[in-house]
Amino acid sequence: MVNKVAIIGAGLGGLSVAIALRKQGINAQIYEKARLLRPVGAGLSLVPNGLHSLEAIAPGITELLKAAGSQTQKLKLHKSNGELIGQKSVRLQEKYGQPMLQIRWSRLQEILASQLPPEAIHLDHRCINFEQNDQRVQICFEGKKTVQADVLIGADGINSVVRQTLIGDGDPDYAGRMSWRAVLKYSHEKLLPHEVMSMTASDGKIFGFFDLGSGYVFWSAASLCPDGFLAESPTDVKSRIQEKFSGWAEPVQEILAATDAEDIVERPICDRPPLQNWSQGRVTLLGDAAHPMVPLLGQGANTAFEDAWELAQHLNDAPSISAALANYENSRKPRTQIIQIRNAVGAKRAYKADSETYLAKMMQQAQLSDAEFEEWLYSHKPSVVNSP
Ligand SMILES: Cc1cc2nc3c(=O)[nH]c(=O)nc-3n(C[C@H](O)[C@H](O)[C@H](O)COP(=O)(O)OP(=O)(O)OC[C@H]3O[C@@H](n4cnc5c(N)ncnc54)[C@H](O)[C@@H]3O)c2cc1C
Repeated sequence: MVNKVAIIGAGLGGLSVAIALRKQGINAQIYEKARLLRPVGAGLSLVPNGLHSLEAIAPGITELLKAAGSQTQKLKLHKSNGELIGQKSVRLQEKYGQPMLQIRWSRLQEILASQLPPEAIHLDHRCINFEQNDQRVQICFEGKKTVQADVLIGADGINSVVRQTLIGDGDPDYAGRMSWRAVLKYSHEKLLPHEVMSMTASDGKIFGFFDLGSGYVFWSAASLCPDGFLAESPTDVKSRIQEKFSGWAEPVQEILAATDAEDIVERPICDRPPLQNWSQGRVTLLGDAAHPMVPLLGQGANTAFEDAWELAQHLNDAPSISAALANYENSRKPRTQIIQIRNAVGAKRAYKADSETYLAKMMQQAQLSDAEFEEWLYSHKPSVVNSP
């Protein structure tokens, strides 16, 4: 019987699994290292598989999200000189029952947090390790605070401390690219409502503009950077991007000039190879802690929502905690590994592959056409789990 679940991390995965567990009557408590829930200055694409999972977790939530974001109806791809390469209409709503939705990270986080009682989120709690035995798991935080729970979920992102204590596989791998993102109120004749416009160059640089509704635009840029160092100040970050994208057609330089340097998030793109196992005893992982991926397909948060729904279902249903966590992991691993691999293939990542199964899956999925893969990805529906 599960009474208390401790979740490390109040990111999108941690918040959504807490909501799902509390709906099942389980006392889920989140421990977050930050002193404030500081929003990442970025936007996010939510797609049918993630939105269906969120709707299953908190019925009605997708209407709130749709009201807070912008449903993408068209994707356009241009060369860096502005020449149109191609465009396509987005018909996910008609085909899969949920749209492609662009939303500010901060709004998504606020909407998720608003579904939880404030006392379920404990800020200023940096997890440093944990110990478990047959009866419980004890979690240790900086400053000698400790907490006990029946189950521990590591939803603490790509640099997960819970994963390090559980598996100890070191730092994530740098994928050779830096990313820069910001959200601002901005208008330009080339940026239309309900559209995503991307510009690309043969040297691997990409710059995307995402309409977020209510006059806001999210831009996201990436470039190959072999050394992966971070700029020293916000002004240096801004000059770095302006230089990297100099000569690109407008509105690239215009939107960069209009963006406050302090609002730009610079981040190295990292991932890890798929894991063979991510649960032991009373402890499991979720979201980026379990299966981090490069953001090529925009699936990191969407798959974290799938995890959240399934983990709560299994914990509510299985005869024992270890069975629940094993069922969750066995159900989630094949799907998330395929998505990790597809991302890696698309981003030309070379993993140090260590198993034949892994290589076989990589070959198989690499051969699926984009249309077949999209169908498989977006038609995923959260199902109700019943123990045998
Ligand atoms: C450039 C870029 C674009 C992306 N675009 C998309 C997209 O369009 N769609 C999409 O689905 N995904 C996208 N992603 C991926 C997405 O951001 C992640 O997959 C998602 O945020 C993972 O959520 P999470 O809750 O697992 O981890 P995180 O969001 O990283 O949250 C982890 C939380 O744990 C906390 N934490 C960490 N360590 C500790 C500790 N020791 N103790 C306590 N708390 C701790 C952190 O402060 C944080 O709040 C993108 C990623 C990048 C880099």
